[in-house]
Amino acid sequence: AAKLFSQDPIQFYSSDLKTASEARLRLESQLREAIAKEQLQVYLQPIYDLSSGRIVKAEALLRWFPTKDSSIGPDVFIPIAEQTGLIYPLGKWVITKVCELLTVFKQHNINIKLAMNVSPRQVSDRHLFEFIKSTAERLGVDAHKLELELTEGVLVDNYNKAQKLLNSLREMGVTIAIDDFGTGYSSLSYLKHLPIDHLKIDRSLISDIDTNEDDRAIVLAILAMATQLRLKVIAEGVETMEQQEFLKQHRCASAQGFYYAKPMPLESFIAFMK
Ligand code: C2E
Ligand code: MG
Ligand code: MG
Ligand code: MG
Repeated sequence: AAKLFSQDPIQFYSSDLKTASEARLRLESQLREAIAKEQLQVYLQPIYDLSSGRIVKAEALLRWFPTKDSSIGPDVFIPIAEQTGLIYPLGKWVITKVCELLTVFKQHNINIKLAMNVSPRQVSDRHLFEFIKSTAERLGVDAHKLELELTEGVLVDNYNKAQKLLNSLREMGVTIAIDDFGTGYSSLSYLKHLPIDHLKIDRSLISDIDTNEDDRAIVLAILAMATQLRLKVIAEGVETMEQQEFLKQHRCASAQGFYYAKPMPLESFIAFMK
């Protein structure tokens, strides 16, 4: 410790920063390779209709396996991909994969929708719509089977682009969900003007609904508002039966979470569906 403190604090800080940016740079070039080397996989997590108990949809969640027995989570590498622009090739890879998965579902008579996440820079890419459309057409995927998840920040920061994109997607049959709903701080007026189908309540609001009065109040307010606006609500991060029962009782449409299943690779998902 003595040695640590004897170091010039400014120099110490900047050398630390240098290591951090070097680590990021390394991660960036590894990620670039990962796309080429096919170290990426799309995992699937089922989404349940709460009134019927059936699986109606799955969410596609990206996984990176740099080596056989190591993995890096999307919370770590998606922000780097966003900052470096790698999100463009990565996003295209995910869109293509999701369409391919839908064709595999069809072969197995699995008749569900597939939702994918898109991040801010992807939404600002004016080629995004064309890419989704042409990929779906090329692979013979019915656009009604596709759902896009975006966070509300994307819509607010980039309103005009988002509006154009969402209208085009809607026209084609793709549905739209607002991800991590309830954690933003923006005006809700965009809900009136944009073609949105679903709100996904963030996991942080679901985890304590049994015990936290405030979280419960917020969840109930979201459900009431969604009913008025004719939006369907998906609860994210459901981990207990109590949480499920609360949501069911208050007419939340769908749920997703470890209580039902964790995200899993395609083969497991197909087995799970049978
Ligand atoms: P998200 O879209 O909000 O996805 C839900 C996250 O919650 C997933 O984390 C999922 O594994 C996790 N989760 C689901 N149920 C439970 C539960 O009951 N308990 C707990 N503790 N966690 C649960 P994951 O897969 O690590 O993804 C993190 C985030 O990374 C996603 O949040 C999404 O924002 C982003 N992401 C993932 N895949 C992609 C992608 O293909 N493209 C883009 N742009 N972003 C992605
Ligand atoms: Mg999501
Ligand atoms: Mg979410
Ligand atoms: Mg999230």
